[in-house]
Amino acid sequence: MTTFSYDFKTPAYTGKVDFPTGVFIDGEFKEGGDKTTIDVINPTTGKLITTVSEATTADVDIAVKAAQKAFDTTWGLNASGARRAELLWKLGLLMDDHMEELCALEALDNGKTFGWAKNVDVAFAIQSIKYYAGWADKIQGKVIETDESKLTYTRHEPIGVVGQIIPWNFPLLMMAWKLGPALATGCTIVLKPSEFTPLTALRMCSLIREAGFPPGVVNILVGYGHTVGAAMSSHMDIHKLAFTGSTLVGRKIMESAAKSNLKTVTLELGGKSPNIIFDDADLEQAANWAAHGIFWNHGQACCAGSRIFVQSGIYDKFLAAFAEKTRSIKVGDPFGDDVDQGPQVSQQQFDRIMGYIDSGKQEGATVHVGGKRVGEAGYFIEPTIFTDVTPEMTIVREEIFGPVGVVIKFTDEEDVIRQANDTVYGLAAAVFTQDINRALETAHKLQAGTAWINCVNQLHAQVPFGGFKQSGIGRELGEYALENYTNIKAVHVNLRHRM
Ligand code: NAP
Ligand code: MG
Repeated sequence: MTTFSYDFKTPAYTGKVDFPTGVFIDGEFKEGGDKTTIDVINPTTGKLITTVSEATTADVDIAVKAAQKAFDTTWGLNASGARRAELLWKLGLLMDDHMEELCALEALDNGKTFGWAKNVDVAFAIQSIKYYAGWADKIQGKVIETDESKLTYTRHEPIGVVGQIIPWNFPLLMMAWKLGPALATGCTIVLKPSEFTPLTALRMCSLIREAGFPPGVVNILVGYGHTVGAAMSSHMDIHKLAFTGSTLVGRKIMESAAKSNLKTVTLELGGKSPNIIFDDADLEQAANWAAHGIFWNHGQACCAGSRIFVQSGIYDKFLAAFAEKTRSIKVGDPFGDDVDQGPQVSQQQFDRIMGYIDSGKQEGATVHVGGKRVGEAGYFIEPTIFTDVTPEMTIVREEIFGPVGVVIKFTDEEDVIRQANDTVYGLAAAVFTQDINRALETAHKLQAGTAWINCVNQLHAQVPFGGFKQSGIGRELGEYALENYTNIKAVHVNLRHRM
């Protein structure tokens, strides 16, 4: 069985880590069914960090059985809400204790900066776990009045064994968004991290055990999508599957669910989010937010504000301010001082993004800023802005999932709303204006699960997040996410036994 030992000696963090990286089933680490391993690559160098045990489809079956046993004996209806809350809170505290270590692992494995991991990923992951600790003993149905001879009420019962498949862009954070509501409601879990970034999920296994969760409540399987992911989505004893990733894979998961046991599926998929800047916006602020919108997490965010619509009266001035802000972004070693942007996550993503940049050039768009690789080693790409784009161009239509934004000039409100909504996606949208009526009217007309006014990329554990159209099904976070993990049962009591 594999383990990972590493000695961090970086400007941002020094310290040793040492933890098992096996397949985590029923509270124990073990070798995967085929005794094979998966290479974990450092995106800063392109070199191997370590190898971790590879889970197989046979391991999925074993994990589901362990999860079912835990559900039937120690979790589900056998653990009170207060108990579930206590363990979730304890897990949050343990994550606090290991915060810097988790940040270092995320920076090493994913390439995001240590500071970013600290302020965003890990901090928000801890908040999310603690937030759902608060819900665990507040999951309740309703008494519904029918007639005087009856008592009718609903129960929100945990679904049972659930599957969760998470991506590589926010590894620990996406794990926390999924674990929180599932554990709070009493479900047991088989979770597959992305094999590109498995280290924080594997570190969490020991913390989950230390927090006192009974064996089998959480099972973590690092494996490939076409094996483990596919086995999970077609499994007859997994009753719900939550997925974050590409629309392509989301589609496959729905298909597998339909062909197997009709498990419920929630999907958090891609986006091509519009960011609309009106003439009367605070120019400096809008330029800063627009850069934050698209270059946040190296552009590897489903809600990235990748289509920036700017009204004609402010266009030139905005573009100058936005370009200046973009040029000031420091790209480099994620552990380095004052670095804003590390490498993209993988060779595959690097190639994809460079391919999109080429397609933009070929289709006649202008590279206004950036457009090139940075350095020789690792997967670094310059923050890039395209101008002179037209609506049919690939870079305007498809999700690039990298630090590449397109700037589009518009004249009137009606026209920009039409263009903003002209996409298969509907995850998020933003509008910048100082006119409150225009702000609200525009926000309400945009087809998106989230609308930001004079800000972008604001996410909170309490606030639901998810997509319209092909950006997904269902909502994560907030009270809304609890619905994903409960079945509603209506109980009818006939008080006097009379027909
Ligand atoms: P992806 O293929 O959708 O991967 C997401 C997760 O799904 C991974 O754990 C993946 O495992 C798994 N998976 C793949 N095939 C599967 C299958 N048949 N059944 C079940 N699970 C399966 O995403 P990607 O290839 O890493 O990235 C490609 C694009 O997806 C990005 O460029 C971006 O546009 C989008 N994306 C969106 C988000 C988001 O937050 N919404 C996150 C990541 C990526 P494997 O890694 O083994 O394939
Ligand atoms: Mg990696």
